[in-house]
Amino acid sequence: MNLSDLKIDYSWTLFLDRDGVVNTRVLGGYVQKWEQFEFLPGFLEALKILSSEFSRIIIVSNQQGIGKGLMTEDELEILHRKMITEIERNGGRIDRIYHSPHLEKEGSVKRKPNVGMALMARKEFPGINFKRSVMVGDSISDMIFGKRLNMVNVFLSEDINQARKSHQCIDFVFPDLISFAEAVSGMKIN
Ligand SMILES: [Mg+2]
Repeated sequence: MNLSDLKIDYSWTLFLDRDGVVNTRVLGGYVQKWEQFEFLPGFLEALKILSSEFSRIIIVSNQQGIGKGLMTEDELEILHRKMITEIERNGGRIDRIYHSPHLEKEGSVKRKPNVGMALMARKEFPGINFKRSVMVGDSISDMIFGKRLNMVNVFLSEDINQARKSHQCIDFVFPDLISFAEAVSGMKIN
């Protein structure tokens, strides 16, 4: 299947994981403050393009650091406000951010791969059709989350061949969000 076969149009919704898609991951830790937050190369340019391709762009992010007491809800809120300001300054858009503060062991419906955050999104944006939604993530739990909702799953990985083989829930693999944005828009960026 090619991405163009999906006939993605503006009625579609884009769901994005945050760490590893929007910003670089802090290995073995959490992004706790703005000073640690670093947009992935090309993300801002990619999001500008994607903002004219999708009517809703929604971040769904597990933030277990809150459950562990490493950061507060307020600190996350401040960080996200700064992130959105930068995104908008660069011509992009995020319509909503959902996060799950829960610990993995709590088994919350809100924590990916459970689908609670997507259901909250659909409640708030009734135009969302999960079958006309793309989930972009860099973890298998993102792909399970997407598949449970019949979304189209895009896995970001430098090692495309390895990733393709690694999980049945992966529909497409791209090295970064820019490559995905180029494929969706038919535009060559840079
Ligand atoms: Mg991630």
